[in-house]
Amino acid sequence: MIWRPWRRVIWADMGFSVNLVESGSEMASEKHTVLIAGGGPAALSAALYAARYGMDHIVLESWKPGGQAALTAEIENYPGFISIAGAELTAKMKEQAERAGAVFRMESVETAEEAENGIVVRTDSGEYHGDYLIIATGAAPATLGIPGEDEYYGRGVSFCATCDAPFFRNRRAIVVGGGDSAVKEALHLTHVVSQLGLVHRRDRLRAEPYLAEKLVSNEKVTTYWNSHLREIKGDGQGVTAAVIETPGGMKTVETDGVFLYVGTKPATEPFRSLVELTEKGAVLTRNIVGTSNPRVFAAGDVTDNGFRQVVTAVSDGARAAAAIFDRIQAYD
Ligand code: NAP
Repeated sequence: MIWRPWRRVIWADMGFSVNLVESGSEMASEKHTVLIAGGGPAALSAALYAARYGMDHIVLESWKPGGQAALTAEIENYPGFISIAGAELTAKMKEQAERAGAVFRMESVETAEEAENGIVVRTDSGEYHGDYLIIATGAAPATLGIPGEDEYYGRGVSFCATCDAPFFRNRRAIVVGGGDSAVKEALHLTHVVSQLGLVHRRDRLRAEPYLAEKLVSNEKVTTYWNSHLREIKGDGQGVTAAVIETPGGMKTVETDGVFLYVGTKPATEPFRSLVELTEKGAVLTRNIVGTSNPRVFAAGDVTDNGFRQVVTAVSDGARAAAAIFDRIQAYD
């Protein structure tokens, strides 16, 4: 988004303290107390609490509002909602944060580094200086690095059944993985596909037992235990088959689509020089949302806090905003 002077007037009218430094070109620089990077439940909760604490802030939410949670068809374990679509839940969270005064920009964070008395974050269209930063950029789907995966991405290979299921009505699909994402999204697919293969590298699923049982007992589902997807074949237009290494040898299974749910990788690339990361690239936390940098906090799936749920992400976001508020009260 390009900064225009009238936005400054509107925000000033709304009571936000926005310090604009025009650079003369389309790029501009702003200063806020708190920068929040991310757009999923952790960032939305941090935004809600930052706004309610009256802290001057900005949320840089990239082009995927709602994060990974928004791509989940049905969420049944977020207290207060017996069942709700991920997109609806995150839209409600955003509306609630906006009503409290949270300010969002659809801009992707590209770099983040230390600056004098703070942090400077550069996005695809601006530069933001903050006294504090909350990293809540979540995690992106992991890939297998097998032949056909990149080539047929968007032409049969997908990381989102919630988004792409309608293209597979009465067709065949294969899901890879054994975690909550694989099982939930596979269940979603069973409502539309004619046949579903589930490929998992072990002989049991790590997903919630109730959902796992529901999936494997579905008559459309064929399971491939102790198996690995080795190649995705296509005809140049789309996916036609999956090559699976099973305990009985290599099998080529005809399919129209392959959905990959083999874990996630934390979206920490822009923050490498700011905070210590784990070997797997997650933000190394201390006291739940603190990081190696006293001006930087982290929340949700981007962290090394193993239990990755919407309910824990929103808790982290709230804690991060509260920790900054406490620090400001104590030192400023
Ligand atoms: P996950 O729990 O890490 O599961 C990843 C799955 O992929 C595992 O079954 C793993 O096998 C398999 N896998 C990993 N690397 C592989 C490889 N190279 N080849 C083949 N298979 C591979 O990831 P997730 O399902 O995306 O979930 C991420 C987090 O979000 C979890 O904490 C999960 O509980 C949470 N989540 C919760 C819900 C919910 O509604 N409660 C929904 C979605 C996600 P192994 O089992 O052998 O390790």
